[in-house]
Amino acid sequence: MNPNPHERGQGQEGSKQPEFTFRFLVFTRYKTIASAYPPPKNVPFLAGLWCSLNLPLVRAPLRWGDQDELHVKEAELKALLDRARTFTQRVEGEIGAYQKLAEGQYLEALFITCSDSRVIPALITDARPGEIFELRNAGNIVPPYGQHGASGEAATLEYALEVLGVQDVVVCGHSHCGAMGALKSGDDLTRLPGVDAWLALARPELAPVLTGTSDSSGNSHSSDGSDGPSLADVAQRNVVNQLAAVRSYPSVRQRLEDGRLRLHGWYYEVDTGRVYELDDDGHFRVHAG
Ligand SMILES: [Zn+2]
Repeated sequence: MNPNPHERGQGQEGSKQPEFTFRFLVFTRYKTIASAYPPPKNVPFLAGLWCSLNLPLVRAPLRWGDQDELHVKEAELKALLDRARTFTQRVEGEIGAYQKLAEGQYLEALFITCSDSRVIPALITDARPGEIFELRNAGNIVPPYGQHGASGEAATLEYALEVLGVQDVVVCGHSHCGAMGALKSGDDLTRLPGVDAWLALARPELAPVLTGTSDSSGNSHSSDGSDGPSLADVAQRNVVNQLAAVRSYPSVRQRLEDGRLRLHGWYYEVDTGRVYELDDDGHFRVHAG
């Protein structure tokens, strides 16, 4: 999910990245347009002013199908495409490890986390291909067992346990989460009915922390002294809630009773790289490696 640029939990630099991203996009847009439509010789001043001011006032509204915007997207995609086309060259020295992947997966865990591009399980854990089975969606939400018919979450969880024999499940929330930010702020999601319906799955269980009636959600570092919960409070409570949702699945309950499965709650700070682990007392803490 995209970050909420207005959100600032404790120790979080919520406003820096959006500003940087915005300026980068504006600059990229200028460069693209400038290369596609070089200005006449008598107006270099205007082009220079545009670049130096870097103001939203000179940025035309973006519409789907906008030719300039398409140029930007094509340039961005081309970079990804170029890297994909040269992937085999970059892993040439590891071809043996890749060939072994044809034999199967060598899983360490099922990792349930947000779709946010800043949360990369393999990067955080230094995992190799084949070691982490991922389940990702907006807000790392797991619908409780049997309440919502077929779902990718239920299928992935079932397959990980019953077929792949995963023995550890991690539910990982994160800082600067747009999904949790929308729930915290009570954003009007009328224009995003799919998102609204999805986040509604998490909203009831978050009510105690959202309304400030929670006695303790186990957040050792999230109080920022402001009114209401911090975004870290909400995201961490959501991790606890989603672990409870995972436990609602019969295959999970059975394996927990048999000692064949362990559940873990994590909270990842995207701006520091810190991983907070949920301890038995309900507090999230950073542990030494
Ligand atoms: Zn998120």
